[in-house]
Amino acid sequence: MDEEAIVESRIAPPPLTCPKCSSLLPSDLGVLTCLICSAKVNVEHPVTRRNWNNEKVGCPQCSKVLVVGVDKRPAHLKCASCSTHFTVAKNVPRVEIACPSCERRLRMKRRPGEREIDCPACSTSFKVTF
Ligand SMILES: [Zn+2]
Ligand SMILES: [Zn+2]
Ligand SMILES: [Zn+2]
Repeated sequence: MDEEAIVESRIAPPPLTCPKCSSLLPSDLGVLTCLICSAKVNVEHPVTRRNWNNEKVGCPQCSKVLVVGVDKRPAHLKCASCSTHFTVAKNVPRVEIACPSCERRLRMKRRPGEREIDCPACSTSFKVTF
């Protein structure tokens, strides 16, 4: 069986922090588990749900534009035109941070927790916490 193609959603829920430890929560809705302190936090955001439902994505196979019509991510879709199955995945928020040594700006996916970064320009290692 072929692996389903994945299209990344352009709509992200608002960034929220854990009420217990103030770290960033995963970018999602529903009952989320804080990756730092394991607290469970119920996050709802009707505007995001509505935008997810109404989001338009291009079929990865035939480029036809489809309305997702599902108020959660990931969402599994079947193209009405070419019958390709594909997945609309969660939006992965990206951030820009500056290297503390050479101030080059680095773009990366924002995942909660501490990460060690190697600057590609000057090879300095530094830690960031989101
Ligand atoms: Zn927490
Ligand atoms: Zn298609
Ligand atoms: Zn650097």
